[in-house]
Amino acid sequence: MWKNQPTCSDCGKTFKGPQLRCPKCKGLVAIPPISGPSLNDISLSSMWSLHSFLPDFSKPISLFEGNTPLLPVKNIDDYQDLALKLEFRNPTGSFRDRASSLLVSDAYQNKSQTIVGASTGAFSVSLSAYAAKAKIASISVVPQNLELSKIEQIKIYGSQIIEKGESVDDAIEYSFMVAEDNNAYHASPDNNLLTIEGQKTICLEIVLQKDTIDSILVPRGSGSLIYSIFRGFEDAIASGWITEYPRIYAVSLEKTKVAHLAESLEITKVFLLEEVKKIIQKTNGNEIEIDAESMLDEALILAKNEGLFIEPASASVLVAAKNLIQEELIDSKSSIAILSGSGLSTLNVYAARIRGKKKVVWGLSESSTTKFEILNLIAGKKADYGYSIWISLGKNQSLQSIYQHLTELEEKGLIVPSETEVKRKHYELTKKGLETLDNMRNLIDYL
Ligand SMILES: [Zn+2]
Repeated sequence: MWKNQPTCSDCGKTFKGPQLRCPKCKGLVAIPPISGPSLNDISLSSMWSLHSFLPDFSKPISLFEGNTPLLPVKNIDDYQDLALKLEFRNPTGSFRDRASSLLVSDAYQNKSQTIVGASTGAFSVSLSAYAAKAKIASISVVPQNLELSKIEQIKIYGSQIIEKGESVDDAIEYSFMVAEDNNAYHASPDNNLLTIEGQKTICLEIVLQKDTIDSILVPRGSGSLIYSIFRGFEDAIASGWITEYPRIYAVSLEKTKVAHLAESLEITKVFLLEEVKKIIQKTNGNEIEIDAESMLDEALILAKNEGLFIEPASASVLVAAKNLIQEELIDSKSSIAILSGSGLSTLNVYAARIRGKKKVVWGLSESSTTKFEILNLIAGKKADYGYSIWISLGKNQSLQSIYQHLTELEEKGLIVPSETEVKRKHYELTKKGLETLDNMRNLIDYL
């Protein structure tokens, strides 16, 4: 099936299967650079137009992934002409579809009845769709409190969902057990060589789509996308398409500011950390850390000016591009930013931002959300009169409307005045108020 045999980069042992780590020495197993056809002999219609660089399968499982547009920015001065690789135009809205196509093709070839995968969401959504296409059952292990829109998409494709642990690391660990119990094909993005080989096609396409490439900005996450991009450049050089590596920039979040805005960037274990460091050094790139809050603003600027709606993790590369262009470290005309996923998978995050709330619960009106926040403040003794509540809620609405909410809560018997000073009424929760708050908290936590 392989064009070149997977080989441990440390001990030189060769493998038939797609494991990414050598069981003997824990070294990285890699495919030696593949020399494919000349640039002019390829006409792109999907990722599979690049089959000369991909393993052979009896029946490739495809939803017509790949061949995503490379679109220059036109209306944003900060990074005018920067080329955007629109990976969210893939079948399920993320670059992971390239990996899923290969993984599910492999599972199909192995006659697996079930596929088990674990991730922060986008990968599981993708894997569920491709498993559906191949008519293979799938089980998705995800951490608890994942974004609702991701959970629902996984279910819509018919995958069984298991919520396990606080972080994706917990979910991945548990998924190995689930795979063994179900005699299933295990498909986590970070331990399978096919993930890398599928994702590298992003890079091969870019070389086909653009003449001059000096720099490429990639969200770091676990390192798998960066390593994949590098693998693509290796094949492009081996095929004579380009002569040297463009600079690769790895974009991650400032550690102190992790704010649960981009689950895929908030990874504690960077599986390919060593490789990322080597790649950056080899290509004269750099690691860029950005502030988590700024990526939401940047994503909204892109949506309003270019009509492209992306997830926060993707916007991280735009923030990095803006900084690098400002410091004249890269030239926007010869640089590329990879926009890895769609904003539709993180609607809650944006809705909360636009409404000035910490969290948005679908089906709960804005006014109910504010009442919930007020009950929370009073219960937690953080604020118990109108003006202090208004300040605590960030002055996002009129003071008058806060008094209106307090009056309504009092009329419903959820709060009562505890004491009344000359100009101010302090409140506390009634028994009914406490019960209501508890019920609302349960509702929100379940979502
Ligand atoms: Zn080895």
